[in-house]
Amino acid sequence: MEKIRMTTPIVEMDGDEMTRVLWQWIKELLIEPYVDLKTEYYDLGLPERDKTDDSVTVASAEATKKYGVAVKCATITPNAQRVEEYHLKKMWKSPNGTIRRILDGTVFRAPILVKGITPYVPGWTKPIVLARHAYGDIYNSVEAKVEGGGTAYLVVCDREGKEVSRQTIHAFEGDGIVQGVHNLDESISSFARSCFNYALENKIPVWFGAKDTISKTYDHRFKDIFNDIYEREYAAKFEKAGIYFLYTLIDDVVARVMRSEGGMLWACKNYDGDVMSDMVATAYGSLGMMSSVLVSPDGKYEYEAAHGTVTRHYYRHLKGEETSTNSVATIWAWTGALAKRGELDGNQPLVDFAKKLERATIDTIESGYMTGDLIPMFRREGIQPHKLNSRQFLEKIAEKL
Ligand code: NAP
Ligand code: MG
Repeated sequence: MEKIRMTTPIVEMDGDEMTRVLWQWIKELLIEPYVDLKTEYYDLGLPERDKTDDSVTVASAEATKKYGVAVKCATITPNAQRVEEYHLKKMWKSPNGTIRRILDGTVFRAPILVKGITPYVPGWTKPIVLARHAYGDIYNSVEAKVEGGGTAYLVVCDREGKEVSRQTIHAFEGDGIVQGVHNLDESISSFARSCFNYALENKIPVWFGAKDTISKTYDHRFKDIFNDIYEREYAAKFEKAGIYFLYTLIDDVVARVMRSEGGMLWACKNYDGDVMSDMVATAYGSLGMMSSVLVSPDGKYEYEAAHGTVTRHYYRHLKGEETSTNSVATIWAWTGALAKRGELDGNQPLVDFAKKLERATIDTIESGYMTGDLIPMFRREGIQPHKLNSRQFLEKIAEKL
């Protein structure tokens, strides 16, 4: 077979530990035999980030702005223990955070469904795509302890420092705590647009909830911005696409999601997204089956797996022991990027190839061949599940492909 050609490169962001091992194998076994792969390579592995004072992360994000499509391997976000383990100059920031700041994007996470693995919520037969607003609220808050009584005020000054308003938060009689949070109209607006665009592209409805009955200024602003942007810019397009936008209270959204069959984009405020994404991921089975894409408001895409570098498996791999690490979400990062590249370049063979690779992966699992994490969940009439090691699983997919 002649290899599928590419006209524009994909930005390739390599990573750490077990996922870095899988990364090479996926390319070697599943992509390079069929695609004349063109990438602009950035090594975001921790040693290289340390060596370049993290400038490689910034460069990879800038390249994504230029080319429009990136694929990223999971990376270590260093903590004190990692600083020692890797003898780092400094506790570098999360690469995902850095890339998100530069691209100003929204992260969409979607489970990969296969027959034989039933979600813990059996009614969820379609994927629930979750979008988390990754700016503000308690994640950029200021907090204080009040000791032995005192008064906390909410004071707003204009740009010259002149007081515009002052409210008493609470007059404390004894000990207590106080917190100040903020958000920006601009950030909420770009989150809303990202969600509506994603929904249009994937033909799924958008559900959004906040607590506007309690938080009459703060959460109400989220509601108003979503409604305004929807009415002015999207209502007609949604109607044409046969989808809709639902705003309701966050607790009502949670109840509706539980009763639903899935198949919607669930837009979440920052904290709701943090909590609910873990619930949704767990309910669908394994972290190894959760894909993720960062979409910027101006249409740049960075695809990755939702899980981390699977450290425990890597330490076993280093000792020469066998691992059975699920590579599905990392494969989806590649197929997502290849398909998007193909779509933007009008390269249909590349789009078709990505879909075939996804199909081959799903067929492999559905016919009973999978990694260890899926074995306890797999139930399919007449099919006995077989546990494969990390590399055998990829070889089995290659056979199907
Ligand atoms: P993790 O790498 O997602 O792994 C947590 C556990 O979940 C694993 O030990 C494993 O459980 C299971 N698991 C996750 N992915 C799996 C897969 N593909 N196949 C099979 N099992 C899988 O999270 P972590 O241990 O909290 O973090 C490890 C490193 O990853 C950290 O340095 C963190 O900074 C980084 N991280 C990076 C990203 C990113 O780049 N987007 C995201 C999250 C974390 P068992 O060991 O029980 O098999
Ligand atoms: Mg969380």
